[in-house]
Amino acid sequence: MHPTLKLKPKEGRRARAGAPWIFSNEVQMDGAAKALPAGCIVNVAGDDGTPLGTGYFNAKSLISVRLLDPASDTVIGTGFFVRRLERALAIRTALYAKPFYRLIHAEGDGLPGLTIDRFADTLVAQITTAGMERLLDPLLAAIEKAIQPVNVILRNDTPSRALEGLDTYVRSAKGDAARIAVEENGLRYFADVAAGQKTGWYYDQRDNRAFMATLAGGRSVLDTYCYTGGFGIAAAKSGAAETVCLDSSEPALAIASESAAANGVSCKFVKADVFEELERLAAAKESFDIVIADPPPFVRARKDLEPGAKAYRKLARLAAAVVAPRGFLFLASCSHNIALERFAAECAAGISRSGRSAALIRQAGAGADHPVHPMLPETAYLKALVYALD
Ligand code: SAH
Repeated sequence: MHPTLKLKPKEGRRARAGAPWIFSNEVQMDGAAKALPAGCIVNVAGDDGTPLGTGYFNAKSLISVRLLDPASDTVIGTGFFVRRLERALAIRTALYAKPFYRLIHAEGDGLPGLTIDRFADTLVAQITTAGMERLLDPLLAAIEKAIQPVNVILRNDTPSRALEGLDTYVRSAKGDAARIAVEENGLRYFADVAAGQKTGWYYDQRDNRAFMATLAGGRSVLDTYCYTGGFGIAAAKSGAAETVCLDSSEPALAIASESAAANGVSCKFVKADVFEELERLAAAKESFDIVIADPPPFVRARKDLEPGAKAYRKLARLAAAVVAPRGFLFLASCSHNIALERFAAECAAGISRSGRSAALIRQAGAGADHPVHPMLPETAYLKALVYALD
């Protein structure tokens, strides 16, 4: 039924083992393959004819095929999406009492090219591949069957869509929403799902925010790269003696201060460049019992590894310098393109260069609503390290 795409001899080792990606150098890129429209559904077979499943193909992308199902000729329609959504929903309802979570985490939920964050009745979807873009209609029909949300917002404005030959746009597929409430760890925050970063909220740090909040009682806290206040407000609510939150984004800080008020806590929100402000604080000999640094990705592409690694080291050095004696330091990286070992090594080097000694007390990733495909360990992008400094 679907056209068959053949792999080159001996290629497809990872796909045969169950990984959902096939790279362009593994495919027999003949005239017929090149003529397939970007994102069309194909069956994939090894050179020896071994069927590898149903997926979508884009000759222009480095990852040529993303497999959707291990069987060949699987119909990728509303029924397929309903099955995937129901599976994802079953995991989330087992994890969380309230409907605030990442509902679909791409390959981790068997739907490459798609993330959906759920804020009760509002779903915010982000599509990053031509294959998933072509499947928008059955996806929306399945969302209606499985979930019936009031609002469905398409935040298809990630620059990475260009790699797949896609344009960028934001629109509502159902209802409409901008400023909405988020409930997390017993707190109430706000997010802007129409204009905020990514889908408006970073659910991946939920457990890490809760952990840092357990340390916060009676301590002073500096939340750098605070965005809409996820860490800082949780720390303040847990009884932090003082909370200062830094970000360069005015709209993010405006939402953060509304969220602080909604939770009955007072935090100081400062618009600043984090590197500059950390240097200024160190020069002024100011320090905090807890310093949190959750920056944007410093290693956006593989070629940025060395400069990005250096930036993580510098951040660790500058942040460690403003941690009070016997304080705690939280350092995170959301870059896919730096491995945990390298990130941890850069953090260790930075802390040491600031003249501090430290014990690593916690190593974590994203919350359980961000499942990792077991054959794609590189999709475990978030690394979060907590150090106790001397
Ligand atoms: N910790 C946040 C998420 C951080 S996202 C949370 O828990 O939700 C990264 C943030 O870094 C964004 O809000 C962005 O505005 C901010 N940012 C990026 N570069 C910055 C810089 N040089 N100085 C200050 N903030 C910066």
